[in-house]
Amino acid sequence: MFHAQVLTLFPEFFDSPLSCSIPRRAIEAGIVAVDCIQIRDFATGRHRKVDDSPYGGGPGMLMKPEPVVAAIREARLRQPQTHVVMLTPSGAPFNQSRALEFTEKSSITLLCGRYEGFDERICDYVDEQISLGDYVLSGGEPAAMCVLDAVIRLLPDVLGSPESAVLDSFTEEGILDWPHYTRPEVFEGKAVPDVLLSGHHAEIEVWRREQALLRSRRRS
Ligand code: SAM
Repeated sequence: MFHAQVLTLFPEFFDSPLSCSIPRRAIEAGIVAVDCIQIRDFATGRHRKVDDSPYGGGPGMLMKPEPVVAAIREARLRQPQTHVVMLTPSGAPFNQSRALEFTEKSSITLLCGRYEGFDERICDYVDEQISLGDYVLSGGEPAAMCVLDAVIRLLPDVLGSPESAVLDSFTEEGILDWPHYTRPEVFEGKAVPDVLLSGHHAEIEVWRREQALLRSRRRS
């Protein structure tokens, strides 16, 4: 079984997305287990403070190192082989090949920030830093959920047809999926391309490849 752990101040964020569709089926089938670890449980003091103001001044608050590092240690205790990933806009871009690499691990732990982000020293306690893209989210939870979803659907036996993941966009670097059509044959005057109705499998394959290359070139 693949073990995912999420270090977060908002475990409830994951309740709904993990109880739908593919992630839910993967959990129910025992292919993946997802455990949330509440970072605040590792904060000490009467107020269980997890954030503090930045040295040098400036707006906002930062995640304090003590509770976050204690939560990382707990994650490593629970899953000694776990690969700890910090979600941060400063990280390396997440993509399909990283998702595939994560499926080869037995466990990943996703560390979600809030506020203005992490005290920089926390970076020394994680295995890598990943960004979802060049924009700023209000917390690491939506980023962690995207990573979880992308990884879970690539785990063996999760998708109904194992072929679907192989044919997806980005399986081949930089190459997008081809255009798809279903019934009706004509929708508001827009017809399905003739070749797809021809029954000529070889021609259909050639057309799909051409279309995939065309839209990949347009996007690059
Ligand atoms: N001050 C930080 C900056 O400008 O880089 C942004 C902090 S953001 C408001 C709070 C948290 O959301 C971050 O610590 C991180 O965990 C998460 N986050 C925001 N944008 C992200 C992105 N593009 N990729 C991954 N995580 C992100």
